[in-house]
Amino acid sequence: MPFARLAAAAVVIGLALPATAVARTPVTATPTANKASTVLGVAAGIAQRYWGAVPCGGRVAIVAQRPLTVGAEAGTDAWVTFDSPLGANNLAAAATTYSNCTIAFGRSRWPTTASMREDWHMLCLTMVHELGHLLGHAHDAGPGSVMAPVFTDYSGEPAMCRTARPRR
Ligand SMILES: [Zn+2]
Repeated sequence: MPFARLAAAAVVIGLALPATAVARTPVTATPTANKASTVLGVAAGIAQRYWGAVPCGGRVAIVAQRPLTVGAEAGTDAWVTFDSPLGANNLAAAATTYSNCTIAFGRSRWPTTASMREDWHMLCLTMVHELGHLLGHAHDAGPGSVMAPVFTDYSGEPAMCRTARPRR
């Protein structure tokens, strides 16, 4: 498993919890990782409110500062992994069957917690996008869609991301 939950910035998010209490700190977390988990927790809370749904039975490992996954296109900022009855990462399977779910953020774009806060709008938009995949949503090339396959502008950024930027 390339995305084990052992990374310093790993945080397991209980997505069924209220957004204000969404981040739970693993025992391996460092003080720096705690700050990262706060940013990720806020974004994850926004993502579940945006979709009005909880993926993977509320068990999603969210990891940051990951090296680019093997086979991913250069410039990939984040990605998801999950198991399904049709095989790994297969969006054709019903989302209710997904398990072992992970959302990974690449260190090329977000090498530090500070960079995650500085680049909040992209981080939040990306979280909503990736959580959408874990709910079974495929890419949508329609204008302004948060599921656009490639980022072009912020027209797809949910309004909740614009108003909920974490304090620095
Ligand atoms: Zn995508």
